[in-house]
Amino acid sequence: MNNPENTKNLRDLNKTDIKNENNASIKPGNFITEIIDEDLKTNKYGGKVHTRFPPEPNGYLHIGHAKSICLNFGLAETYGGLCNLRFDDTNPTKEEVEYVDSIIEDLRWLGFDWGDRLYFASDYFEQLFEYAVKLIKKGKAYVDSLTMEEIRGYRGTHTEPGKESPYRNRSAEENLSLFERMRAGEFKEGEHVLRAKIDMSSPNMNLRDPIMYRIRHASHHRTDNKWCIYPMYDWAHGQSDSIEGITHSICTLEFENHRPLYDWFLDELEIYHPQQIEFARLNLSYTVMSKRKLLQLVEEQIVSGWDDPRMPTISALRRRGYTPESIRLFSERVGVAKRDNMIDVALLEHSIREDLNKRAMRVMAVLKPLKVVIENYPENQTEELDAINNPEDLSMGKRRVTFSREIFIEREDFLEFPPKKFFRLSPGTEVRLRYAYIIKCEKVIKDNKTGEVLELRCTYDPATKSGSGTSDKKVKGTIHWVSAVDAIEAEVRLYDRLFLVEDPSYEKEKDFMELINPNSLEILDTCKMEKSLLNSKPGDKFQFERLGYFCVDTVDTKEGKFVFNRTVPLRDTWAKISKTS
Ligand code: ATP
Ligand code: MG
Repeated sequence: MNNPENTKNLRDLNKTDIKNENNASIKPGNFITEIIDEDLKTNKYGGKVHTRFPPEPNGYLHIGHAKSICLNFGLAETYGGLCNLRFDDTNPTKEEVEYVDSIIEDLRWLGFDWGDRLYFASDYFEQLFEYAVKLIKKGKAYVDSLTMEEIRGYRGTHTEPGKESPYRNRSAEENLSLFERMRAGEFKEGEHVLRAKIDMSSPNMNLRDPIMYRIRHASHHRTDNKWCIYPMYDWAHGQSDSIEGITHSICTLEFENHRPLYDWFLDELEIYHPQQIEFARLNLSYTVMSKRKLLQLVEEQIVSGWDDPRMPTISALRRRGYTPESIRLFSERVGVAKRDNMIDVALLEHSIREDLNKRAMRVMAVLKPLKVVIENYPENQTEELDAINNPEDLSMGKRRVTFSREIFIEREDFLEFPPKKFFRLSPGTEVRLRYAYIIKCEKVIKDNKTGEVLELRCTYDPATKSGSGTSDKKVKGTIHWVSAVDAIEAEVRLYDRLFLVEDPSYEKEKDFMELINPNSLEILDTCKMEKSLLNSKPGDKFQFERLGYFCVDTVDTKEGKFVFNRTVPLRDTWAKISKTS
């Protein structure tokens, strides 16, 4: 029966105005909600929707995981159901508490809540063991004593059937006794495994007597040394879903071929049977998403850690200045696909720009400073000028910036030999200083030996004061600046793509490590910022006028040392792409 409560929620969602890149409303419905709607209609799960997010704690979460998180928690929200957090901690050798903690932190930060439903597959080890015993007793599982290499050899290929193991027809008693002894620690790693007894000639390789348990004399981050046999993913996963009463077990496409095995285990065990549904994993251009590869970048110190702002991890995006809202919006925009595809990283950048445009306070900062002395401005005089905090939201008010005889401008805003249509500063030309006056470049002071421009001598026109000047003089260019008397010194880190090619994982000739962009990080350590930034705290986000969105680094900012990360530059390549296409 259709649950009226759920229908209402879905209707409400339909009203929310989600726009895609062409500004057309995205229907929040997709093939997964269609399946769920149908299940609600037929009352397959008693009107319930219960999903789960099942990370393996062997790395930090990345933007692909965020897609899965938003999908699973989002469906539960949409249908008034529940979503569990379950750690798939079945592999003791690769998993660590550090990863568990980081995953919980990232999920909370993204804004999701699993109530008291935090689970670990390792909590089910005893139950899984009993299920295995049940299959052995039914003659549906056996202890195999072939070596791993032999097992691989017996498996056959996609074109040839596999061969049955000589141990396949052991009696249930013998299997039970061996399995108990495996658990008791009587054997070495690799001596025996427990396998499901299905079909060695199945066209689906996953059904060729898959391994359920292997011996690992390793201590586990939760069960310590209690176990020396560990369940394989395929054996643990579906049964964990069943134990938790999951209705829709959503996973990525590579598990489509595992679904018959998922179903086989549940059917043979005759226990509650969730529905597995697959969708395409999110791929993002100019990065890699495999945890193995991300770990390699960390271990080989290509990046400073899992939270290096160039990484695609949630912790890196957070440190770089992304907001949870922007990531959730992005996830919504990419939608749910049945086929693998590649999402342009420009769409992610578009989402954070859109969010920060509304929220971030505008300030002035000069990244590569050039000193300007305004010769007709009295020495020792300063004045406070009004500056608007956010033209998109005037309720954010105004602040005051200091103007003085000595200021800094961006080196790039001066050219000694300007091309046509250069409307900034050059010898003899005028430009407006944002919120201040029009100045004229009178003289260029250069290093005698190197010819480097050291300083500009300018004059200002007092009648051109922004907002209250009496002069109606107009100039084509406006530039940002910072007063030298109270500027804050800061370090700014600019980031570029971590990889040189769109899809570093599928470049035929080259390993992904050879495709790293050597210029993905630029550190500027003589930046000058307006004094209002003195009050900013780690994590605060700003728009530096004309330069982009920046955020105070949470790791390297210390008493007396400001470090800013550039989240994104201002130029929105996505908006441009979607306008021309
Ligand atoms: P890797 O392949 O790098 O080891 P994984 O998929 O094994 O990653 P898990 O911790 O098992 O990582 O993933 C937890 C959940 O997140 C799974 O349900 C998985 O399907 C989903 N997930 C992982 N990567 C992506 C992605 N790129 N897009 C969408 N969902 C993903
Ligand atoms: Mg996995």
